[in-house]
Amino acid sequence: MTNYDAQEVARIHQELRERLPRDPASRVEALEKILTEKGLVDPQSIDAWVEAYQDHIGPKRGASVVARAWSDVGFKQRLMADAPAAIDELGYLGRATGHLKVVENTTTVHNLVVCTLCSCYPFSILGMAPAWYKVAAYRSRAVRDPRGVLEEFGVEISNDIEVRVWDSTAELRYLVLPQRPDGTEHFDEDALASLVTRNSMIGTDRDLKVTALGED
Ligand code: FE
Repeated sequence: MTNYDAQEVARIHQELRERLPRDPASRVEALEKILTEKGLVDPQSIDAWVEAYQDHIGPKRGASVVARAWSDVGFKQRLMADAPAAIDELGYLGRATGHLKVVENTTTVHNLVVCTLCSCYPFSILGMAPAWYKVAAYRSRAVRDPRGVLEEFGVEISNDIEVRVWDSTAELRYLVLPQRPDGTEHFDEDALASLVTRNSMIGTDRDLKVTALGED
């Protein structure tokens, strides 16, 4: 097994950023073309991975973790204390959640997750990272002006709410535990999970809506 050198990884990230096209879609296209030409990947297996992360894993797994935490106080305590171990109880543990911290929104705290260096993301439970999560504008402004960024996502944060910004790395990723909406006391876990948006688990959404689906 090779040694993991964080500084070397950061240097490679930096070099890649300088050489690759700026637009993430063009980067992916360029990488896929080279890897396919070299016979290192089969485009069909890439499509299968995308489908798995887009439709089967994310963000449904994250939503079910949140719903379990809302419904089960003991699970929530375990989740806050040791997120990977608690998520493993649901069978969702993957490489991107091996080192994960859950940060809880309250009436006085709002949490926002970013990766300023690149795009580290708990894809084992949230699936594919949204395109905006990877662009420089979000990565830099989420730290400098989190309230401005949130406003652009339609999230108004009053001044009496503290905004905490969490910078992800390959060693530690974050999941926001949003607040359970009022009026959902009789909802079961599936109904609760249906209310949880991907963005609420990144922090670019805050007040979850009680939808007709959740009321079923
Ligand atoms: Fe990253």
